[in-house]
Amino acid sequence: MMLAYMDRAAAAAEPEDAGEAVTVAAAAADDEAARDFGGLVSARPAAVVRPASADDVASAIRAAALRADLTVAARGNGHSVSGQAMAEGGLVLDMRALALPRRMQLVRSPSGAAFADVPGGALWEEVLHWGVKNHGLAPASWTDYLRLTVGGTLSNGGVSGQSFRYGPQVSNVAELEVVTGDGECRVCSPSSHPDLFFAVLGGLGQFGVITRARIPLHPAPQTVRWTRVVYASFADYTADAEWLVTRPPDAAFDYVEGFAFVNSDDPVNGWPLVPFPGGARFDPSLLPAGAGPILYCLEVALYQHQQQHRAHDDDDEEDNKNNKVSAMMAPLKYVRGLEFAADVGYVEFLSRVNRVEEEARRNGSWAAPHPWLNLFVSARDIQAFDAAVLKGMLADGIDGPMLVYPMLKSKWDPSTSVALPDGEIFYLVALLRFCRGGGPAVDELVAQNRAILDACGRNGYDFKTYFPSYRGEAEWARHFGAARWKRFVDRKARYDPLAILAPGQNIFPRAPAAAAAPGGIV
Ligand code: FAD
Repeated sequence: MMLAYMDRAAAAAEPEDAGEAVTVAAAAADDEAARDFGGLVSARPAAVVRPASADDVASAIRAAALRADLTVAARGNGHSVSGQAMAEGGLVLDMRALALPRRMQLVRSPSGAAFADVPGGALWEEVLHWGVKNHGLAPASWTDYLRLTVGGTLSNGGVSGQSFRYGPQVSNVAELEVVTGDGECRVCSPSSHPDLFFAVLGGLGQFGVITRARIPLHPAPQTVRWTRVVYASFADYTADAEWLVTRPPDAAFDYVEGFAFVNSDDPVNGWPLVPFPGGARFDPSLLPAGAGPILYCLEVALYQHQQQHRAHDDDDEEDNKNNKVSAMMAPLKYVRGLEFAADVGYVEFLSRVNRVEEEARRNGSWAAPHPWLNLFVSARDIQAFDAAVLKGMLADGIDGPMLVYPMLKSKWDPSTSVALPDGEIFYLVALLRFCRGGGPAVDELVAQNRAILDACGRNGYDFKTYFPSYRGEAEWARHFGAARWKRFVDRKARYDPLAILAPGQNIFPRAPAAAAAPGGIV
């Protein structure tokens, strides 16, 4: 069966085969797979395969191995920005096809711990709604935006304001089912095939296709006290943020994030980014006289769980929450008066970026190109980065959020494939540009991203790119550093010896089938 549809894939001519569990769409019928959220590159596959099972994924990979030049890219929700989920002339696996809600399952360990078994193509939003609605349970670690797939974020890292405390998403996985580049389906975990397990986490899709992930679940909070405060001084902002992320868990927030914005009333780059909907207003007269071109907004959240007891206990709980928030906020050096708080539901809090999506769809910037740049910058160099980049090159803003918030390296397992800076505390810097038309040309923004990377290199900052986009082995070797690159190459040889998988990352060229003939393929 597989060979039959491989011929169609190569010819890219036949219509969708609706009669089989696996469906294959001719590329012309599926432009989606030739594009991604970034809108900067385009690569047309020979065919899009919609797998109905891990076996279908394995069949596609085995069939690709029989051709000298065929590659296979798993596509999650296509939210990459540089073609990472594309396969020029190859097969794109539409992982969303593996993500029917009925395939999520609650699993209990012998000790009673709860886990969700979810398809690799499930959206985190689907995991959230399924877990909270059916079981009152939820994962601990999220991304800001939840319409991303489990397999897509686990192939990168998966970070948000919870990462400092609960670890990134790659630190919140108990088990994976993976189809490796030799067409074998394996179940791996920290204790079973650990090398494969850790290779795949943050592995940029290079070692296998995640068809199922087992995610630890915890009782879902009921409400969230969500607070934003504003700083004029980056030194104060970072000192406070670092203090907050290094507090003991019983005296810490559940979420710490933040962003830089322009000190003006510009609706896209300035103060309107800060307050919550529903009345709170930003009063710029409260800013200190010497405030510079860029301000900073620290964003914290404390979860509250439902109490199953008497009303006065609920009052006690409310008092406890208020006291805890007050105790943590009191020593912070934000601009007094520029403080905005709200109590929101847990699901609403985690879904907060959906409003951004709705607005961006309305104004056309969701469909426009997104020349985004994501970096991890060591705390050692973040002041210099702020001076040179945020207050320097980007002092007028980027027509989108400039996230800057700290996390802890000790929450990341060094065995995963993710490349991080050296220091224990490092910052996510996410330059999330939205092009609304009338602004600078996209090429200029891409060039500015390159200039920022050059400045980081030239100034000797301890940094790594997140969602890296490099060309060729030399650049990738520099990205990983000698020891980690060697391990990455060794793992590639072990799990995808023909370099069939994730060609859109531009790391390894496809090897001819004759160069290696791993047992699993024929
Ligand atoms: P894709 O873009 O489809 O794929 C990404 C890579 O993973 C590709 O190489 C692909 O081949 C591979 N891949 C996909 N599925 C699988 C699989 N099942 N098995 C193996 N490999 C696979 N990231 C964060 O960490 N935190 C955030 O807060 C955050 N917010 C975002 C907000 C928006 C609006 C957008 C567009 C992106 C955001 N991201 C964030 C980035 C996001 O994590 C990446 O885009 C990531 O690639 C996930 O997107 P995806 O599921 O669409 O994967």
